[in-house]
Amino acid sequence: MKSNVIEYFMDLVRIDSESSCEKDMAVKLSADLKDLGIETIIDNANQNFTSNSGNLYGFLPGKIDKPPILFCAHMDTVTPGKGIKPIIKGNKIVSDGTTILGADDKSGIAEIMYALKELKEEGQDIAPVEVLFTVSEETGLQGAKYCDYSLIKSKLGYALDSHKIGSLTIGAPAQNNLKFTIHGKEAHAGVNPEDGVNAIKIAAEAIKDMPSGRIDQETTCNIGTIKGGNATNIVPNEVVIKAEVRSHNHAKLKEICDQMINVMNVKVALHKKNDFQASVDVVCEQAYKNFKLAENSPVVQIAKKAAKNLKLSDYVTIGGGGSDANIFNEKNISTAIAGSGMNEVHTVKEWILVDDLKQGVAWVKEIILEYSRN
Ligand SMILES: [Zn+2]
Repeated sequence: MKSNVIEYFMDLVRIDSESSCEKDMAVKLSADLKDLGIETIIDNANQNFTSNSGNLYGFLPGKIDKPPILFCAHMDTVTPGKGIKPIIKGNKIVSDGTTILGADDKSGIAEIMYALKELKEEGQDIAPVEVLFTVSEETGLQGAKYCDYSLIKSKLGYALDSHKIGSLTIGAPAQNNLKFTIHGKEAHAGVNPEDGVNAIKIAAEAIKDMPSGRIDQETTCNIGTIKGGNATNIVPNEVVIKAEVRSHNHAKLKEICDQMINVMNVKVALHKKNDFQASVDVVCEQAYKNFKLAENSPVVQIAKKAAKNLKLSDYVTIGGGGSDANIFNEKNISTAIAGSGMNEVHTVKEWILVDDLKQGVAWVKEIILEYSRN
């Protein structure tokens, strides 16, 4: 490991690890964890999806007799994430503008690793710590979903995967994914269009009447992709629409999904020609459940106290996105999302402050010490 967290972070972002290609990261981090005296295991989560690596798990026994505490981050990045060339401009680290930076989520990884390194070098007596670096988070939380949970003993944890150091996201919505496959009837557009049933027209009528955008404070809905048709001279017989609904409220999530399905069924039923009736196949699947941690829960209080000890401006917030923390909470590991300093993620303008990387290390250290003290 490099002699400071900045250089270490720069090394990590130079290792390509777009989703499903995390192996080089897992190998590097596994070696670094072993240097810190931490045993590692790479699980077989990737037998359930396409990736060249499983999740990397590490366990540090610690000297204080307490259950372990978990720190997580994801090893994968979005695209374009190959050949990242990090550049330091004053207090800011950016990419060269042709790729993302990968601070999402390598800032979290670097901060966890460096906190453990410094605690070791300082000879601090701490409680046991578990680390989990997941794969394929950006492609549907797949590593977290298929993680080998028999390895994890912690009941509370932090997923470092958010913006401001000192901030905690303590709730996130559930998400359902919907897929509609509309079946119309093919016909020659010039010779006998009257025999056809146009699937694109049905899709347009349905979409027009479907809920969309922000529904209320806790619910959103988006029709994200539509595919159909082969040529202008064919009445199209199939359209596939994909949509998502998110809500912090389970009843509302179901209500909006039901509304969308109902609108679709009504519109499809209106289209028949002779003995042909248009139809639709509907798939509505839960991507992940929502979670909400109480403000007075230990996982929130410990991180707030640690932020206060360091004079960081701490605050708690409710998020609008899903992350590995949704899955961990589903598995009864009370997990808050902690800020690691990343900004403008999923864009080629992504950046992080040098000072924030250092403060992130200090915060993780202080959380471990605060947990160990009480
Ligand atoms: Zn992330």
